[in-house]
Amino acid sequence: MADTHSIETRSYNMSRIRSVNTKPELKVRKFLFSNGFRYRLNVKEMPGKPDLVLPKYNAVIFVHGCFWHGHDGCRYFVKPKSNQSYWLPKIEKNINRDKANFARLIELGWRVLEVWECDLKKGKIEGTLEKLVRTIKNI
Ligand SMILES: [Zn+2]
Repeated sequence: MADTHSIETRSYNMSRIRSVNTKPELKVRKFLFSNGFRYRLNVKEMPGKPDLVLPKYNAVIFVHGCFWHGHDGCRYFVKPKSNQSYWLPKIEKNINRDKANFARLIELGWRVLEVWECDLKKGKIEGTLEKLVRTIKNI
């Protein structure tokens, strides 16, 4: 059935988008690791399941896609023109969930660092990662 096929395709694409080892996250991980940082990944028991947890620095890192997490004012976060009633509540929910998770983590004494996908693009990534290291080290 044609319908079944299109549903399968869609769920495949969605799972790819949401998959844990997204490329931007890998870039951050590789850089930090090669610079001597050690971390835990996707710690389930922590609010929001941070992408990286650096206990030594009391820091957690989220690498966020600009679309799914509604990067405010970002040129990569273009509100979808079609099906807005479907996408916008989803994105809004993510934004609110992120806020709530960040607040809980801060309450628990963590420093919450958020890296946006657009800042990991060619030409920006070096500066972003250098800044991230300075922030982690608090210098
Ligand atoms: Zn962005």
